[in-house]
Amino acid sequence: MPPPQRTASDHYHFYTYDYPASAAPWTLSPAVVTRNNMQFYSMQQDLQGLADYAATRGVPGIHIFRAGATVPDDVGVDRDMTVLAFGGGLGRPAAIITGGIHAREWVAPAIAYLIAEYLIVNYTAAPVGRYQTAIRNLVDNRRLYFVPMLNPNGNWYTVYSTAANSRYWRKNRDTLPTTQAGWLAALQRGVPPAPNRPFVNVAATGANVSYETPLYARPLPGRNSPFTIVPAAVFGVDLNRNATTTYSGYNTFYNGRPDNNTDPTSESYFGPSRASALETRNIEATIAHIRTNVRVNVDTTIDYHSYAQQILYPTEASDRGFVDASYKSLGLILQALIATSLSWSWSYQYGLGTPVSQIKYDAVGTLADHCATQANARAFVIELDPSGNLGLAGFELPENKIMGVFEKNIRAALALIAAAGQPSQATARRILYHSINSASEQEFMDWDVFGRGNQLPL
Ligand SMILES: [Zn+2]
Repeated sequence: MPPPQRTASDHYHFYTYDYPASAAPWTLSPAVVTRNNMQFYSMQQDLQGLADYAATRGVPGIHIFRAGATVPDDVGVDRDMTVLAFGGGLGRPAAIITGGIHAREWVAPAIAYLIAEYLIVNYTAAPVGRYQTAIRNLVDNRRLYFVPMLNPNGNWYTVYSTAANSRYWRKNRDTLPTTQAGWLAALQRGVPPAPNRPFVNVAATGANVSYETPLYARPLPGRNSPFTIVPAAVFGVDLNRNATTTYSGYNTFYNGRPDNNTDPTSESYFGPSRASALETRNIEATIAHIRTNVRVNVDTTIDYHSYAQQILYPTEASDRGFVDASYKSLGLILQALIATSLSWSWSYQYGLGTPVSQIKYDAVGTLADHCATQANARAFVIELDPSGNLGLAGFELPENKIMGVFEKNIRAALALIAAAGQPSQATARRILYHSINSASEQEFMDWDVFGRGNQLPL
């Protein structure tokens, strides 16, 4: 069976979780028209098809599995967080590529999936020439994990729901407590009940529930940030504030004022406790499984988001001293490799820094912080296209731009995978002169991927 030859923008679509129109043998799942007159591929079917195809190519160590437990939806459907793993084997350094933790950021799952597809479609056990050899070396000498859709229920909601503003839903679809007793129970544990760390002063106030949480400030600790929950039917936890980290559950500053991470109706609500969301526990358990059972180090990770055109070192990792010289170097390399052509300029297209330096707010309890501070990975958030401050319209990247975003980002993803297992050495000056000290990352500086879709350079 032939691999997909994606060399034109109309070969690219966004992804939805799944739909019953299975195509076998795999080419691509049939794209169906659903929302905003756009078409979607099935992530479930294409991941399975890609795994089957990889086997025919001799790709080593293919394993497709469910991260943790199946996630029930609020509409009575269960969905899996599917992981596609391949490459190397026991003891190889690992890289993890994820996307879709925020439901409305449709380009993120597509890019995470397309990177896996690029590696598999271009893998050959008997490579000819520089480019095929580099792809085989990457796949054979690394252990690679792809989780393109970290929030399948949220994705479903953005694609299929007819509710007002459903296209712009960000969180998961957890049903939160609707009563005072329910909230008191959710915010406390044990007998007698004690507040879930780091919450304090959880109390019934009239018909409501009040609680306080520390404010993430520099220097720590800040004053407490109080909030009163009015019980109502409310859905969703921001999965990218819910991870197990030191400062998960802290409220942050947004444009110089306390944010509303404490508010269940907020888009960045951190949840009633750390790792309260099954999706969070699933990805954290998968990372722990990789480290302890597969016994590989998770060395480098990218979690794709949109939008802003930024490469971000996670907040807690940065503030706690995890971003060392090698971590910083890899950021510089990613920035140099994310481009629209091989010609260089003094200014890069994507910014590089921390959330507060680049987009004016702190983000704690993120997946990238968990990867960096718990698994010691050089973990990045990449905010894909478009750039700028476009409000909700920024999430509506046109379908015909996906190919360009992929081509812009593929070389950095390859370099991040290459960087797993070895320190990166780069300076801004050396990059300017097209010289990176790390040979395996230097490899990608002059790869001409532009206009070639998922095909290797000639
Ligand atoms: Zn996001």
